[in-house]
Amino acid sequence: MSQRDYYQVLSVSRDASESELKKAYRQLALKYHPDKNPGDHTAEDKFKEAAEAYEVLKDPEKRKIYDQFGHEGLKGRGFSGFKGFDDIFSSFGDVFQDFFGGGGGSGQQTGADLRLDVTISFTEAAFGVERKVDITRHCNCSTCNGSGAKPGTSPKVCGTCRGTGQVVRTQGFFSMASPCHACQGQGQVVEHRCSECYGEGRVPEKKKINVTVPAGVDDGSRLRLRGEGEAGPAGAPPGDLYVFIHVEAHDLFHREGYDLFCRLNLSYSQAALGAEIEVPLLDDKTKVVTVKAGTQSGEMMRILGAGIPHVRGHGRGDQIIQMTVETPKKLNKQQRKLFQELAEIDGKPVKETLKGYFQKLKL
Ligand SMILES: [Zn+2]
Ligand SMILES: [Zn+2]
Repeated sequence: MSQRDYYQVLSVSRDASESELKKAYRQLALKYHPDKNPGDHTAEDKFKEAAEAYEVLKDPEKRKIYDQFGHEGLKGRGFSGFKGFDDIFSSFGDVFQDFFGGGGGSGQQTGADLRLDVTISFTEAAFGVERKVDITRHCNCSTCNGSGAKPGTSPKVCGTCRGTGQVVRTQGFFSMASPCHACQGQGQVVEHRCSECYGEGRVPEKKKINVTVPAGVDDGSRLRLRGEGEAGPAGAPPGDLYVFIHVEAHDLFHREGYDLFCRLNLSYSQAALGAEIEVPLLDDKTKVVTVKAGTQSGEMMRILGAGIPHVRGHGRGDQIIQMTVETPKKLNKQQRKLFQELAEIDGKPVKETLKGYFQKLKL
């Protein structure tokens, strides 16, 4: 991760207030959020950078260390930034809910996120697809309404954490809160367990989920289905389901960004004389293109707007036809004769000596 100045990252002054920081971070997080920029690594980095800057500056202790000692000062005190999105999301769970309009009170635990891998074809990725997928996840137990307590009884407040669900340790500069072990962070303990869920409050369920893959997604994109993850403990909001998209290769096409590439092999005569050739398009249709006379190997043609649709946007990239002029490998008698005649007309005899060749170069 880059080490730009945190104030610069958030575009705030060095005396920015807490609400200014939050506002600046909120704007960046919304702009660079991975849901809005699937597959965009620059946005991903910016998103992480902003999260790291905010994580430090919103905390008065860390901010003081950073102001005095910079990045090195934080490293010396064990803050090493975020490893990946999961880190960011788990660390900012409630902030994001705040941002993105999810329900739930602040500080309330949410259910775990789930990951699902879906493989789709090249064309499905280009035009979008709906997939029904089976997932197994935990949902709230209907017998005890997620409390885990036997119907007619209720859980009692945890004595270890006095119901807060957290124990606070102080270590050097930092106060760190971690979930209470006695109640697994729930603030309550169940004395008489529900027989349906064995006190868990949740039961596994199989569920069919409709995944709508938007047109234009690329390999490695990630979709987030809010609220389709595991149920939260004791009736808390569920986590999210992250769908990782894998795209199969295509026999004829490959993509670079939103442009679609295909190859077209031309014979010598087609390249020399020009030709009308039918080329395949991504949507199973074809289009007749005009190869101009005198086309060289390596030249390209562009069919505007026949590429990949922009993800969650308008318009499409282009289809780019890469042309290769093929030298014939086998000639029949007549072809050989014609090529020899051609060679004579060209004034480039087939049996040119090396000596003659170098003499020509000197002229
Ligand atoms: Zn507890
Ligand atoms: Zn139950």
